[in-house]
Parts: sequence; structure tokens; C-alpha cells
Amino acid sequence: MRCPKCGQVGSSVDRITLKALLTPDGLRRGVPNQPHYCATRDCPAVYFDREENVTFTEAELTVRAYAKHPDDATVPACYCFAVSAGAMSDAARSRELREMVAREVQAGHCACEVKNPKGSCCLGDLVRIERAEATSTAAASCCAVS
Ligand SMILES: [Zn+2]
Repeated sequence: MRCPKCGQVGSSVDRITLKALLTPDGLRRGVPNQPHYCATRDCPAVYFDREENVTFTEAELTVRAYAKHPDDATVPACYCFAVSAGAMSDAARSRELREMVAREVQAGHCACEVKNPKGSCCLGDLVRIERAEATSTAAASCCAVS
């Protein structure tokens, strides 16, 4: 299903995610039957359901969505274990944090469907941050040498 605001394909999320994360005002509007999540960075819509012609913006969520603020150190990438991109500040630290989250996920300790606005596991996001840190750390040490 494509987002009515930006036209990108959104991923289907469980209704429980909206029930957990919508503000009182958001809940009053009703949780749609087939909510989808829009991960487009600059799109104001976080959830939408085209069948019911509804969209929810970040103002109607109790948390901020990582996908909308990938560079903001105060917004978590992993909501279950509170890891932000800011905390993954260098290659070693980001690997350590990603491994910690992976262990917890493997142990079945995560609660992505009620904690993460995208309603699914954050590990893909953490791996992306870790790769970016590894690249920038390599670039920085290269510059230090020359
Ligand atoms: Zn969108």
C-alpha cells in the first residue's frame, strides 16, 4: 500500500503497534484495520490506511520515529533497549551495542511490536549505523595518518 502523502510503499504493521504508541488524541480517531508505516524521512505521515483514508503524523505518537530523524542522536534506533545512533558514536561502540541488541533479540527479550514505531525489529537499522560508523572511522584514521 502506497503512502498517500509521499507515494512510497509502506510496510504493514500490526494494530497493536498503533494501540501502544498513539497519543490519546490519536487513539480517539480510531485505529484503522490495515495500518501501514511510512519510513520516508521527509514525509509527515507515520501511519496510514488508504482503505479508511486516514493518516497519523508524529504529533499523534508518544515517541519519535527513527526513520524520520536518522541523524538525531536523541531519537532511539532500538526502542526496546534504548540505543540511539548518537550512542553508536564510533566503530567499536556501535559494534558492541549492535551485538548487545542481537543477543537480547535472540533471547526473545525484545518488544518491537509495541515499542518500535515501525512495529518490527531494529537490527537492520543498527547494522546500517554500524556500517556507516565503520566507514567514517576508517576515513578519520586515514586522514589522521596523512
Ligand atoms: Zn509517506
